[in-house]
Amino acid sequence: MASLKRILVTGGAGFLGSHLCERLLDQGHDVICLDNFFTSQKSNVAHLLARPNFELIRHDVTLPVWLEVDEIYNLACPAAPGHYQYNPIKTLKTSVMGAINVLGMARRCRAKVLQASTSEVYGEPIVHPQPESYRGSVNPIGPRACYDEGKRAAETLFMDYHRSNRVRIRIVRIFNTYGPRMHPFDGRVVSNFIRQALQHQDITIFGDGSQTRSFCYRDDLIEGILRMMDAPDELTGPVNLGNPSEFTILELARQIIELTGSRSKLVYQPLPADDPTQRQPNIELARKHLGWEPKVPLREGLVKTIDWFRAVDLNHYRPPTPNY
Ligand code: NAD
Ligand code: UDP
Repeated sequence: MASLKRILVTGGAGFLGSHLCERLLDQGHDVICLDNFFTSQKSNVAHLLARPNFELIRHDVTLPVWLEVDEIYNLACPAAPGHYQYNPIKTLKTSVMGAINVLGMARRCRAKVLQASTSEVYGEPIVHPQPESYRGSVNPIGPRACYDEGKRAAETLFMDYHRSNRVRIRIVRIFNTYGPRMHPFDGRVVSNFIRQALQHQDITIFGDGSQTRSFCYRDDLIEGILRMMDAPDELTGPVNLGNPSEFTILELARQIIELTGSRSKLVYQPLPADDPTQRQPNIELARKHLGWEPKVPLREGLVKTIDWFRAVDLNHYRPPTPNY
């Protein structure tokens, strides 16, 4: 049996973080969930509070924190465009100062630390699909830059702490991931379309809907993150994690209308600035080194996500920003 560890998950109350905490608790580890609840709420982890190996800390990752841990998963950062653009300076601080704080802790504790990076580091990609070797095409002064450049700077910090201080790092670049417990008002495409479809409201297509994304179900993604942490130290990454099945936004909308039996109509709104026109992960590295690839097709994942949206009371969710 693998040895039990003390594990810190920053952003642990969020959509991905709360599932990661669950998986780690199920493996028997001591899990510390650290979150400032900017884009999440305690209800995401309320069912974990009674477990003896779970601890919840309300804290902002831009401020130092002193803990003794064996592993750190650094997920703290608003992830939806409406959330990260709400306070762009804070977003950049969260990525950069958050990285410095967890890396300092990892150095002191000799802990392994994993950074949740993003496909946004590729910006508006000219190379398609995107391999990790592609250096990307990010607009450094656009409205998405606070997130994209923050995550790029965090990758730089991870590599420099690794090279200069031999910190044991892992970097994963996560592509669009969806599933139950996404914030229903986060403004992301899957949550928006499902909420709109279930309420028979207009479905808001930004641009002409021909832009593409590749959607990964959350269970697949969490499995990839866990495998990356357990990989040999030489595999620092970055490693892409995502589902290579690519869809246009129009295809996604039609599929959600069909699966919900909705009477919603499509309405077209302007495409936000710097919205990438295409995005698809090349996952050869993850296949080769982690033996990982996604298993859940979009249709199956959407059915589970729709079931969850039907079951929750939207009045229990506070929109964190007015941008949904
Ligand atoms: P999320 O918004 O649900 O989770 C982020 C969590 O971080 C929230 O609980 C939020 O309250 C917390 N947080 C934000 N700022 C913080 C701060 N300063 N201090 C402490 N906590 C803070 O989003 P998610 O989809 O679960 O994303 C988790 C991580 O994965 C993020 O780092 C995100 O950039 C990355 N990621 C996600 C996706 C995706 O499609 N879901 C894609 C690429 C990268
Ligand atoms: N999008 C859309 N309607 C919405 C929300 C998003 O057409 O109500 C589009 C958005 O313009 C982008 C894609 O869906 O092209 C994915 O957006 P999301 O915010 O989920 O994530 P991104 O990949 O852009 O970070």
